[in-house]
Amino acid sequence: MVFGILLFLQIANSAFADLALKRSQIRFIKVKPHGVHWSYHGEFGPANWLSVYPHCGGEKQSPVHIDSTKVFVDRKLDDFNFHGYDATPERNLTIKNNGHTVKVSIEGPLPQVSGGGLKDSYSAAQFHFHWGSVDDRGSEHAMDGKNYPMEMHLVHYADKYRSLNEAVDKPDGLKVLGFFFEIGDRNPNFDKLISHFNSIKHKDAESTLEPISLHSLMPENLSVYFRYHGSLTTPPCFESVTWTVFKDTVKISKQQMESFRHTLKGNSKGEKDEALTEIYRPLQPLNSRNIYASKVFERPIDDPLTRAILRDSAIQSSSFLSIVLTVVFFVLFS
Ligand SMILES: [Zn+2]
Repeated sequence: MVFGILLFLQIANSAFADLALKRSQIRFIKVKPHGVHWSYHGEFGPANWLSVYPHCGGEKQSPVHIDSTKVFVDRKLDDFNFHGYDATPERNLTIKNNGHTVKVSIEGPLPQVSGGGLKDSYSAAQFHFHWGSVDDRGSEHAMDGKNYPMEMHLVHYADKYRSLNEAVDKPDGLKVLGFFFEIGDRNPNFDKLISHFNSIKHKDAESTLEPISLHSLMPENLSVYFRYHGSLTTPPCFESVTWTVFKDTVKISKQQMESFRHTLKGNSKGEKDEALTEIYRPLQPLNSRNIYASKVFERPIDDPLTRAILRDSAIQSSSFLSIVLTVVFFVLFS
């Protein structure tokens, strides 16, 4: 009996110790100075982000592999409502090479999204891209074992926060829309953006972008998408992102894709030129998370969802039962 109680206290104690450790890590990152160096390659690459940015080793990191045979269709995930995603002259768009990617920051009346199973409305603050040096890699998320040559992230923050900065480390702070790219015909909607690459060739160079319709940069079908909770895919990797990754892809030509790969450089002006490419984080473990699909997503005919639900509930109830039995055993026999 006494042993049973001691065992229980030991389990409870180690659970609290884990919690205390996690809290102390969070405090650690908050006092860290900004601007610590990181990169996609070498000594400061993704495998070592964790040593400076503890959140990068969390349980809910991004990107992840989306296996469409294992997603859960959620009837609450309806269509999005987009407001102000057209070209508005009052809006200021700044295109910048920040040494990690090409990023367009939005200022002025911000485009707003609601619906899509989201509780509130969210403002679009910036978008940027991740790409590789060849067509079979470059996207951050992967879909049914496939990588795409590029992925665009349209970053929104919850309107209950005043800015992207304020929302960036809040669990409900950010909604990012992710879009895969495929090679196809030339996409004239990307001409304006790409025409600025020569003037922002080097790190820290920026330029003003003409009014541009955000809608025109997205794929046609915005009804089929996947949803999960994850993180920023760059340090400090805060787990503050509700991800939406769309199934339909944006098409651009091979030549347009090559402009991303070859015109932009990762170094500052005057330094030895290094192509800005292979700028994506490797896949992260899904751990205990589920990925949900929007309500119009058609599951494959061989219904893996039912099997997955049955299997998961069997695992959950069997592991719970084994804990109960273990405790009862020690209480009765010690
Ligand atoms: Zn990104």
